[in-house]
Amino acid sequence: MQTIILEKPGQFQLAETEPPTEPLPGQALVRVRRVGICGTDIHAFKGDQPFFSYPRILGHELGVEVVALDSKVATLKVGDLCAVEPYLNCRVCIACRRGRPHCCVQLQCLGVHTDGGMREIITVPAVKLHRSDTLTLEQLALVETMGIGAHAVERACLQAGEFALVIGAGPIGLAVIQFAQLAGATVIVMDINQDRLDFCRHQFKVDWTIAAGKEATTRLREITSNDMPTAVFDATGNRQSMIHAFDLVAHSGRLILVGLMLGDVTFHDPDAHRRELTLLCSRNATAANFQRIISLMESGEIDTTPWITHRASMTSMIDAFPSWIDPKNRVIKAMVDIEGG
Ligand SMILES: [Zn+2]
Ligand SMILES: [Zn+2]
Repeated sequence: MQTIILEKPGQFQLAETEPPTEPLPGQALVRVRRVGICGTDIHAFKGDQPFFSYPRILGHELGVEVVALDSKVATLKVGDLCAVEPYLNCRVCIACRRGRPHCCVQLQCLGVHTDGGMREIITVPAVKLHRSDTLTLEQLALVETMGIGAHAVERACLQAGEFALVIGAGPIGLAVIQFAQLAGATVIVMDINQDRLDFCRHQFKVDWTIAAGKEATTRLREITSNDMPTAVFDATGNRQSMIHAFDLVAHSGRLILVGLMLGDVTFHDPDAHRRELTLLCSRNATAANFQRIISLMESGEIDTTPWITHRASMTSMIDAFPSWIDPKNRVIKAMVDIEGG
């Protein structure tokens, strides 16, 4: 089968690999039909993801079709179209035992820690497949990205009428915005990039956008009648932004770190203590998040049309990928069509 392998940073190769032939116990054999590209893939390509190992088959945002099932799997049938929850967990660690498999001690994310979906056929545990009878394959491939936002908003227990600040308006930030709006929060978006802020205003009808920088705190005070936002989501994964975010939270508020950074984040204890600040990290998403997103997409409460800005086939992706990294091309989400033989 055709497979795109990231041989090393900056170098994809289209190769022929042996497809899996039958599902193992509890597993499904699926044909990968669409793969969404995200920041993780871009970091892997750039080579600035220090713990990433090569060669690797990328692809963790997947829209798939079931082609064969282990006979014991009764929840799915051949031909079902599904989103894939790509977080493979050990089922025995403390997080798994507590029903929190998305932060499993041994977590293996498809396409990140283990080979993913940039190939025609893969096997996945049937429990990781979330079916829809009406969504398109592209919508199904968007569910994972949305899950990051849904989970972060769930972690925050966001209430209607709150001011929620989302720092960083890339795909993760957009996913947070989407679910913060559904929770009834008044959303403020902050970014250094004016194009992204315009996109949020026009496509996501965000209430307030502010340019990151010296004036940001003053603007936040104006917007919130001096209160400051009670929920602040950092979706930048940028150290400076994450440290600065502590200063932007209202007294009694919480800071939710969604973006990830490989380094230390520090804060001044009296400032955090005085506010009784709650700090939350948000990782991946739960099966319940996946199911909720699918129903919200099915009912039209989530409009996926602004999301996909670029498309490519398996072969054209290799040439197109470097251009997707260039900010001037304004990629929100690129989608790869895995044609199959
Ligand atoms: Zn992703
Ligand atoms: Zn585990």
